[in-house]
Amino acid sequence: PNADSTKGKLLAVYEKAQLFYHHILVNTKAGEEALNYLIDRGITEESIETFKIGFSPPKREALKMYLENENLSETDILKKSGLFSDRDDDKFYDRFTNRILFPIMDAKGHTVAFSGRVFLENKDDQRRTAKYMNSPETEIFNKRRILFNYDKARPNIRREQEVFLFEGFMDVISAWQAGIKNGLATMGTSLTEEQVHTLDKVTDHVVIAYDGDSAGLEAIKRATEFITEETHFSIEIAAFPEKMDPDDFIQSKGIDAFKDFLSHGRDTLMSFLMKYHKQDINLSNESDRLKYIDKVLDELTRVTSAVEREMYLNQLAENFDLSTESLKEQMHGHIVSNQ
Ligand code: ATP
Ligand code: MN
Ligand code: MN
Ligand code: MN
Repeated sequence: PNADSTKGKLLAVYEKAQLFYHHILVNTKAGEEALNYLIDRGITEESIETFKIGFSPPKREALKMYLENENLSETDILKKSGLFSDRDDDKFYDRFTNRILFPIMDAKGHTVAFSGRVFLENKDDQRRTAKYMNSPETEIFNKRRILFNYDKARPNIRREQEVFLFEGFMDVISAWQAGIKNGLATMGTSLTEEQVHTLDKVTDHVVIAYDGDSAGLEAIKRATEFITEETHFSIEIAAFPEKMDPDDFIQSKGIDAFKDFLSHGRDTLMSFLMKYHKQDINLSNESDRLKYIDKVLDELTRVTSAVEREMYLNQLAENFDLSTESLKEQMHGHIVSNQ
């Protein structure tokens, strides 16, 4: 956009804000505690540079003062930027204070928003405030459109012909450090049409690698349904064990195990669903077992490849000591009732 347009001015403000916050984190005493927190979590200095991570100091007028020095003080633009608290209209107190800031960049690599993480050791404080806080939507930031790390991952997604979808920024960054540079994350929300449209330009193969907790599994289920409805992407799922998220997995099992899991631990959509439906079911109970088989057969009706269908039917038959024929017959019942 034109430098004199509102968008152009907002981009200029965000660019300066990002430089300011990053400087505070990396070069000042005020940023020391935050920097130590990141280093303790295994974030390297190189990543701090690559992702331009920053820290918002506790002093509430710091950003305003800095921007004024940079000749960026147009009241209207500062208000529109969302970088200041909107509680007190003429005070320009920083919206983010005492948070580690992850710049959110658009496809061109311009910072258009921040997500701030609390890190204070004081557990009481953590309980009172949300762990992450995002910039509000502005003329340059639309949550539905942004995919975290898209600007840097795009060439790698094209080359690898697949994309990893993670839940969190920390997962994207940890994976990047482990050499997985085709990972993205949404802004803490479910996948949107706009995001899927963006992906469609670069790949048709999505690997969903959300958190392994029950919220993550539900999110995987929703994402697979959405992607299946909206696109012709092929989908694989990396469901992390023991409720771990990708970053936890790297911390506890190491980089090699992580890469190994991402390449060999993937489930097809159907094998994920077979695991997913097992969650709340007691397979030693006969009626639960029947319910489970029925759910799986219902999912199977959506598998279009006859070979794949046969494969899962055989698997199911073997697991439950049933004949493939009777399972097939029951599945046809589902096909009829789904029509
Ligand atoms: P960390 O490892 O630092 O605790 P995480 O990425 O594992 O972070 P999760 O709780 O798994 O955090 O959340 C996943 C993602 O959801 C975050 O990266 C963030 O984008 C989003 N999110 C989480 N909590 C909030 C919140 N309170 N407000 C907005 N977004 C949030
Ligand atoms: Mn989670
Ligand atoms: Mn997580
Ligand atoms: Mn995490």
